[in-house]
Amino acid sequence: MAKKETFICIGCPLGCEVTLTIDEKGKILGFAGNKCKEGEKYVFEEYTNPVRILTATVLTQNSAQPLLAVRTSKPILKTMLAQGAAVLARTKVKPPVRVGDIIVPNLLDTGVDVVASANLSS
Ligand code: SF4
Repeated sequence: MAKKETFICIGCPLGCEVTLTIDEKGKILGFAGNKCKEGEKYVFEEYTNPVRILTATVLTQNSAQPLLAVRTSKPILKTMLAQGAAVLARTKVKPPVRVGDIIVPNLLDTGVDVVASANLSS
């Protein structure tokens, strides 16, 4: 029996509600509600391979700021967010740091770096 899942497309401000129909084995049968092909592409990625930007803070040393905001330079698999957050929970940085500096290169062998979202001074 076919199942339906609904997603909100974030491709543009219209925010179409896109309904995905899948069979009992998870095979995609169709899309409905999207006003353009971008909606299908977005929902296909969300269903098969969802990714997110990981944002977090890391502890600092030798700075008046106790924490530094960081984020991944590109989205990573949603299933890796918890592991990535665990790495960042063990990470400490020292000043000086400038926005965009690499804090953790190649997080979890994803090919994606974690970069500073703010400056850090002593
Ligand atoms: S389906 Fe197309 S029109 Fe609708 S929100 Fe996505 S990008 Fe915008």
